[in-house]
Amino acid sequence: MNPIDYLRISLVDRCNFRCQYCMPEGADLQYVLQQNLLTQDELMLLVQEVFIPVGFTRFRLTGGEPLVRPDVVEIVRSIATLPETQDLSMTTNAFLLADLAQELYDAGLRRINISLDSLKPEVFDQITGSRGRSRWQPVWDGIQTAYRVGFNPLKLNVVVIPGVNDTEVLDLAALSLDREWHIRFIEFMPIGNDGLFQDRGWINSETLRQQIREKWGLTEGQVRGNGPADVFQIPGAKGTLGFISQMSECFCDRCNRMRLSADGWLRPCLLNETGQIDLRTALRSGVPLYELRQQVRELLMLKPDINYKDRDSGTTGRYARTMSQIGG
Ligand code: SAM
Repeated sequence: MNPIDYLRISLVDRCNFRCQYCMPEGADLQYVLQQNLLTQDELMLLVQEVFIPVGFTRFRLTGGEPLVRPDVVEIVRSIATLPETQDLSMTTNAFLLADLAQELYDAGLRRINISLDSLKPEVFDQITGSRGRSRWQPVWDGIQTAYRVGFNPLKLNVVVIPGVNDTEVLDLAALSLDREWHIRFIEFMPIGNDGLFQDRGWINSETLRQQIREKWGLTEGQVRGNGPADVFQIPGAKGTLGFISQMSECFCDRCNRMRLSADGWLRPCLLNETGQIDLRTALRSGVPLYELRQQVRELLMLKPDINYKDRDSGTTGRYARTMSQIGG
């Protein structure tokens, strides 16, 4: 396996969108109470005294929606200025990004992934659960602002859902032609959304690549990124196309990450719930930091087993937490 040096940190489980595949309508979403969220001080203590000492140097802030957390810019600044931080990025829905992009950049954030599942406002609003005023334009403005401010690479995440946005794959791929935008197509996963998943199913990445190949041709990327995406490019395009194929392909051997939820649960594998550690409770009940480091080190040793042996138990759709609660 790759060295595990990448931590995805969920800043908050709440989101200003209600995407049907992530926070499904009618799902009993128990939000974390404010007092159970890791505070900025607790988060920074864990990052500096637990995660960095055991080898994490790359961090992604996510959620829920990270931009709804009022201290998001300060958190970015605190992590970006640590000498050990080799990489800091964020995943956001961009609804609040137009106003925050410059501040985030000035605080040290350089890389951003934005979820954009459709170029059609009505489809976008249906997916994101917008009622009344369309959310598409503010998101598009957020993307344009981030691009102007200089975020690079700027990646757009697309979850492809049959019968919802699968007819837009070529239009979305075309966004990589003239701008250095990197489109990431993500296979739809059955996490906290059994009903929708059973109803719609998922489309494998190779089917999407075939569509793109037939229209423009497709070359395999020169460099494999550190992450799970298989990277391709339309010949002559400025940006790239990535495919994250966790349903059709096992890329556990490339997995370099763990996830920390907004309430302090450290999760070694997205696709199953084995081995999680409740770091917030431990921290608040006075467990010494050297013991927390030891617990995390032990979990790092167990990760290959958790990923491989327990992987299948995670693809059943029976998850206690949705992606918004885990930190996608
Ligand atoms: N609110 C932010 C956003 O919209 O990007 C960050 C959190 S969101 C949970 C992170 C990513 O998880 C998004 O790109 C979203 O599309 C993806 N995601 C959520 N549920 C998913 C699912 N069931 N299958 C595949 N991807 C999913």
